[in-house]
Amino acid sequence: MTEKYEAVIGLEIHIQLNTLSKAYSSDSTEFGNLPNTNVSVISLGHPGTLPMANKKVIESAVKLGLACKCHITEFNGYARKNYFYADLPKGYQITQDKTPICTGGYITIKNKEGKEKRIHLTRIHMEEDAGKSIHDQDPFDTLIDLNRAGVPLLEMVSEPEIKSGEEAYQYVTEVRKLVRYLEICDGNMEEGSMRCDANISIMPKGSKVFGTKVEVKNMNSIRNVQRAIEYEIKRQAELLERGEKIKQETRSFDAVAGTTFSLRSKEGADDYRYFPEPDLQPVIVTDEYKQKIKSLLPPLPDELFKKYTEDYKLSSYDAGVLTESKEIALYFEELCKHCSNYKAAANWVMGDIKSFLNERALHINNFPLAPKVIASLIRLIEEGKVSHSAASQKIFPILIENPAKSPLEIAQENNLIQESNANSILPMIEEVIAKYPEKVEAYRAGKKGLLGLFVGEVMKLSKGKADPKMTNQLVREKLES
Ligand code: ADP
Ligand code: MG
Repeated sequence: MTEKYEAVIGLEIHIQLNTLSKAYSSDSTEFGNLPNTNVSVISLGHPGTLPMANKKVIESAVKLGLACKCHITEFNGYARKNYFYADLPKGYQITQDKTPICTGGYITIKNKEGKEKRIHLTRIHMEEDAGKSIHDQDPFDTLIDLNRAGVPLLEMVSEPEIKSGEEAYQYVTEVRKLVRYLEICDGNMEEGSMRCDANISIMPKGSKVFGTKVEVKNMNSIRNVQRAIEYEIKRQAELLERGEKIKQETRSFDAVAGTTFSLRSKEGADDYRYFPEPDLQPVIVTDEYKQKIKSLLPPLPDELFKKYTEDYKLSSYDAGVLTESKEIALYFEELCKHCSNYKAAANWVMGDIKSFLNERALHINNFPLAPKVIASLIRLIEEGKVSHSAASQKIFPILIENPAKSPLEIAQENNLIQESNANSILPMIEEVIAKYPEKVEAYRAGKKGLLGLFVGEVMKLSKGKADPKMTNQLVREKLES
C-alpha cells in the first residue's frame, strides 16, 4: 500500500552547544549539577536583567555554517519568541527569526552503495534552551529544573528533501559526525544533546503537491528517528487508503511500541508573536571573521572521504570506516605521513588496532603506539624482514606492552626476522628436495599442487623464518630447472 505513495521529510535538529557558559549569561552549563544551581537572575528572568551574547555561540554557528557551505548572515538580529510555560521563566525564548545566522548549504548523505545525495538546509539559527519540567519524581507536583534554561542551541532546519527513514538515518548520522568533528557538541542523542524532530507527509507517487505534514518528536537515537518515520509513513498511507484525512499535528514516538501517538493538534501557524529582541545588539559577522574561523576548521569528514577514495584509492567502505570518528581519522592521517602504503595503513587501523581498542574498550587517544611505530612495522613487512602474521600476531602485542621499543628490536629479540637471503634458504631447499625424490618426479610430471608441500617443509626447517614469498619462488625455480 505504501508503494502508491511517496514520502516527504524535513528534519529540525537541535544541537546543544558545549560552551562553558550559557547563551546570554555567564551561568555554567555543566551537566549533572544539583537542580537550579546553574542559575542567576538572568536565567531566572528577573525584571531589569540584561542578556549578553556568548561569543562562542557565534563561533560555533559560523563553524557549522562554513562546514555545510551555508551563506553566513552579516547582520544578525535576535528575536523574542513568546509563549508561556513553567520552564521558561522569561515568558519568551531568545532566538533568531528573520536573520538566521546561516542560510542555504547542504549535508551530503551516502547510501550503502556509496551513492551521494545532497540534502539542502533552509537555515541554521542560534537560540536558547528552556528548563526541564520533571513529571515523574513527585506524585502530585511537576518539578522544575532551570539549569538548562539558557543553554545555547543551534537549530538546523532541512528542506523537505528526505525521502525515507533510511535517508533520515544517514542525514542525522552525518550531522552528528560533523558536530563531533567541529567539537561544538557531543552529539549524544541518548542524553538529549542532539534532538531531532521529523516532519513527515506523504503524497501519491509522482505528485508535485505535498501532503499535510505531521511533526514527530522524542526520538532519542538515530535508529529511532528512522523507526518513527517508517511507522508514520505506514500510518498515513493507511489513513489515506481508508479515505480519511491526515490531521496536522504534533506526535510523540513510543520507542517500546514502535508507534507514534498524538500530543497536540497544530492547526495553522502557531502565533509566537516574534518581535526583535531589544536588549541585544545585532551581531555583525565580518568577512575577516569568517576567514579566521575558516582557517581554524579541522579536516572535515567529507573532504577526508574524498581524499581517501580519490587520492589514496581506498574503497568507499574503508574511507567510511576511517572517517567515522575524527580521532581515528587523525590517527590514520598521521600514519599516512610516515607510510605511503595507504591500503596497508588502512588495514592496520581498521583491523589490528580497532580490534585491540574494542577488546579493551579503549579510545584511540589512549592507544599506546604512535602512528610512526605502526609505520615502521608496516615497513618491516614490506622489506620482507618479517611476515605479516609475525607482525600481527607476535610483534604487535609485544609492542603494545613495550611501546618504547622499535618493531625491529622486538623482531630481533624474538627471533622473528625472516630469512630473505637466498643463500641461507637454498641449502634447506636442497635438503627437502633430496628427501622426497618421488614427489619431485610427480611435480615434474605435472602435479603442480605439490609445490605447497615443498614450501611447507622448507618453512618448517627454517622454523618459520624463511620469507614465504621468496621460498615459493626459489622452490619453483629449483623444481623446474
Ligand atoms: P512550521 O512552520 O510548522 O515549523 P516549516 O515550514 O518551518 O514548518 O518547516 C519545518 C520543517 O518541516 C522543515 O524541515 C521543512 O522542510 C519541513 N516541511 C515543510 N513542509 C513539509 C511537508 N509538507 N512534508 C514534510 N516536511 C515538510
Ligand atoms: Mg518552523
